[in-house]
Amino acid sequence: MNNAIKENVNKNYVNQYNGNENKILFWNVDTQYDFMRSDESFNGALAVKGARAIENNLEKLTTIAEKYDLKVINTADWHTMEDAEISCNPDYKKTYPQHCMQYTKGAQYIPATEPEDPIIVFWKDKAFNTKSISENRNILLYKNKFDAFEGNPYTNIILNTINPDIVIVYGVATNVCVDMAVKGLLKNQKEIYVVRDAIKELPSEQAATTLDDITDLWQKIM
Ligand SMILES: [Zn+2]
Repeated sequence: MNNAIKENVNKNYVNQYNGNENKILFWNVDTQYDFMRSDESFNGALAVKGARAIENNLEKLTTIAEKYDLKVINTADWHTMEDAEISCNPDYKKTYPQHCMQYTKGAQYIPATEPEDPIIVFWKDKAFNTKSISENRNILLYKNKFDAFEGNPYTNIILNTINPDIVIVYGVATNVCVDMAVKGLLKNQKEIYVVRDAIKELPSEQAATTLDDITDLWQKIM
């Protein structure tokens, strides 16, 4: 995993000197305590089983982004009880129990992906302007729906402002928010790589959402 990313980053930085720069953006999906941890350290409300095993790789990605001064869009659920997907009687398809509630530990990023000095963009942020995007390496995009493109009206604007050629996606859960992020990015006609060793799926009985099936719809996985 690590070498593939380094190769890609290096290749594109070499191109930069040949006047053929490809801008790379990292896309960190929902690596928050409530999704990532279910052990003695924290009892996550919607923990993805086995997610802790990818934390080393997530940390490597965070380090690579810092080293090469790459922009990172960090998406995060940031809920209140009013949100459509929060329910006391969840069906686990469209509604879920309380998770990533605002200002709780469950809504925080795990240390491996904690964004360094991010510009924070709320979905109801009226003061948002794109200038802040060019000035910050890390963008923290709070959303109130699974899909970052639906859960924050600024996602597309931010993506268009950065205008990357290549997007490298990682995080949780593969068959929910990662899948939605990739599909939203594909609509924007970006070249996308999903890092196989830095994603983790929720178990699903639906054949249509197995890793193999969804990755068929994605362009590239590394
Ligand atoms: Zn949520």
